Amino acid sequence: MPSPIPSSDAASLEALRASVLSTRGGAVDDSIPQLAEADPELFGVAVVRPTGEVVASGDSGHAFSIQSAVKPFLFALALADTGGAALDAVGIEPTGEAFDAIELEGGTGRPPNPMVNAGALLTAALVDGDTCDERTARILAGLGAFAGRELDYDREVSESEQLHGDRNHALAHLMRSEGSLEHTADDAVALYARACSVLVDTEALAVMGATLAFGGRNPVTGEQVVDARVARDVVSVMATCGVYDGSGRWMRGVGVPAKSSVSGAIVLSAPNRLGAAVFSPPIDEQGTSVRGAELSRRLSEEHDLHSFGFGG
Ligand code: GLU
Repeated sequence: MPSPIPSSDAASLEALRASVLSTRGGAVDDSIPQLAEADPELFGVAVVRPTGEVVASGDSGHAFSIQSAVKPFLFALALADTGGAALDAVGIEPTGEAFDAIELEGGTGRPPNPMVNAGALLTAALVDGDTCDERTARILAGLGAFAGRELDYDREVSESEQLHGDRNHALAHLMRSEGSLEHTADDAVALYARACSVLVDTEALAVMGATLAFGGRNPVTGEQVVDARVARDVVSVMATCGVYDGSGRWMRGVGVPAKSSVSGAIVLSAPNRLGAAVFSPPIDEQGTSVRGAELSRRLSEEHDLHSFGFGG
């Protein structure tokens, strides 16, 4: 039986990171100038144990915009704030499509799942608040509770996301025309852009992943941020849809529920075992960090984290 507490310490995590330095490939996302300017050599990793101890290596303190790694947490906040009714507003089936596919669920007009853009535009809109600014404040406070520290969003990144996010505007208008989005399309895109622009570092993101991995309880602060049932729902959807049209390959190869993002971050939640995050900007065609995926695979192997490992 694997130890419930991974024995990783800083030195072994550093050795793991060093073992992945020769992995090359992918390209830095260029959907907005701020992402295109990222240094491709940045490479950080952090692991959070059940005790709340954070073990980190490399550029784990470098700040970046969270991008789509925010999606599991938006879903969690929407579930918490609607008492579970968010599950009626958004599907949970994997799409096998790109993250920004202009596609809604056949028949219902709902977004297909909360891990693609359509779904995240909607879950952001479902959090508590009467105005876009109130909902922004709720999201920042909620994400901060997951991370165990105060968070804010980068105004320039958020402006850029709105300016270049034509597909997100299209998705919001489509959902509005289907009757699945209550707020205006402009409000929904502005809110989602702010959520994607929240600044985190690898350590903060690892704590966020750990909070989901430990049933909604932040292991660093001790705060029960969301119910265990909400965490279960979120981690289930991460497992099936978290890596977009690469989710099947990810589940086979890494076997840990995770969410990728175009900034090159990946957040991992191994239930009752650990939370982790990796950051390395070059991404593959599915939007997954190339070095991040390789490090995740090795971390999973080293600590027997695969959901279906069977010790083999
Ligand atoms: N800001 C990006 C978008 O909505 C996030 C995509 C991602 O990280 O996968 O287009």
